[in-house]
Amino acid sequence: MTNISIFSYIYSVANIVIIGGGAAGCFCAAVLSTLRPGWNITVLEAGKRPMAKLAVTGGGRCNITNTFEGTESLQLVYPRGYNLMKKALGRFGWRDCLEWFAGRGVAFTIQPDHCVFPESQDAMQIVHVLENEMKRGGVHVQCDSKIYSLDQINPRPDAIVITTGGGTAEILSCTGLSIEDPVPSLFTFKIDDSGIKELMGTVVQDVTLGIAGTKFRSHGTLLLTDWGISGPATLRLSSYAARHLAQNGYKGSLLVNWLGLSIDEASSMLSGLSKSSGRTIANSHPSALTDRLWRMLVSRAGIRPDCRWDELGSKGLARLLNVLCSDTYAITGRARFKEEFVTCGGVSLSEVNPATMEARSFPGLFFAGEVLDIDAVTGGFNLQAAWSTAWIAAHSIAEKY
Ligand SMILES: Cc1cc2nc3c(=O)[nH]c(=O)nc-3n(C[C@H](O)[C@H](O)[C@H](O)COP(=O)(O)OP(=O)(O)OC[C@H]3O[C@@H](n4cnc5c(N)ncnc54)[C@H](O)[C@@H]3O)c2cc1C
Repeated sequence: MTNISIFSYIYSVANIVIIGGGAAGCFCAAVLSTLRPGWNITVLEAGKRPMAKLAVTGGGRCNITNTFEGTESLQLVYPRGYNLMKKALGRFGWRDCLEWFAGRGVAFTIQPDHCVFPESQDAMQIVHVLENEMKRGGVHVQCDSKIYSLDQINPRPDAIVITTGGGTAEILSCTGLSIEDPVPSLFTFKIDDSGIKELMGTVVQDVTLGIAGTKFRSHGTLLLTDWGISGPATLRLSSYAARHLAQNGYKGSLLVNWLGLSIDEASSMLSGLSKSSGRTIANSHPSALTDRLWRMLVSRAGIRPDCRWDELGSKGLARLLNVLCSDTYAITGRARFKEEFVTCGGVSLSEVNPATMEARSFPGLFFAGEVLDIDAVTGGFNLQAAWSTAWIAAHSIAEKY
């Protein structure tokens, strides 16, 4: 008796259809085929080949996960889905992900910013591992197979896993499951300001950004560009405020705290600088700001470049502190970050049992990956969500059938 027939004897052979051959779908198929060899597992992929997006993640290097070491709270990483992800990471976290791929020959490198990449710096290595695992497990991958409605899947398999990625939840219209409207996340901001544009390429560390009139705030590195602003702090703000900005046509008032300090902290820092009272303000700048940026901010505060610290006066100091800690710019639109983005929205998490990834009202219908209303800031967290949810779906299907 072969291994397959032993398993077929212990477990009846189940038919499983996975719709969407991306990171989540292929990982789910690979894990399930290891757990239940001999099962009939089919991946239906709309495109010409599976995992086309995975192949270009991280600029072709694949930021596969993150050690979460720099993470203050999971809510700051997963603005949508942090409760579910807390449970999911407890079952299949970043270490489990690395162990799974390491067991299949992938070595990893962990960057100082806690992002994890394959040592080969090649996303295709991850794609090939998943392809090989699916092949070894006898998974049927059918490309050019776009599914428009679940009614198309005939005869009904034992379980269907939806892993169609962001903005694809319309496939579920026949189910009546509630869907959070999909809107883009992880974008950069257009700002029509000549001062910013002239300083394109300038990097400022430890900036706090916000949207005026809201509680959305982000902290980190800011990059000035020829269209406005980019960099980690901008991408994070776009993620936190994704739905708010979509509802407001990507217009709003951007708050910039250039030093990431409170008014009191900034005031005592300036009083240190002003000790050199004979010097002009333009010539003695906080170390966190470049000479050119400082001059631009001094000018925004309406202060002459040749003004000395001892000439500034309390009103001038108040204006300077206001620009440093609460500068404002009009956001005129959104722009792409390289070609990367994720979708905020998807299948409402109230519809899904987080322990199994099965729809509460549709037994046999499972979800994993970006089709769910889960998304993260940049840093490998989005792929980790795909791995964790796909692993849970695969294990619960293996146990159920
Ligand atoms: C350019 C880019 C770079 C990125 N880099 C990173 C990174 O380095 N690290 C990170 O953590 N995240 C990254 N992300 C985000 C990450 O790629 C996604 O979060 C992740 O791919 C989601 O996996 P998924 O399987 O849920 O969806 P997808 O990878 O989008 O896969 C969904 C699949 O389903 C197929 N499909 C869709 N509709 C249907 C249908 N109706 N019928 C059949 N098939 C269908 C699609 O063709 C696709 O192959 C990046 C995103 C982009 C766009």
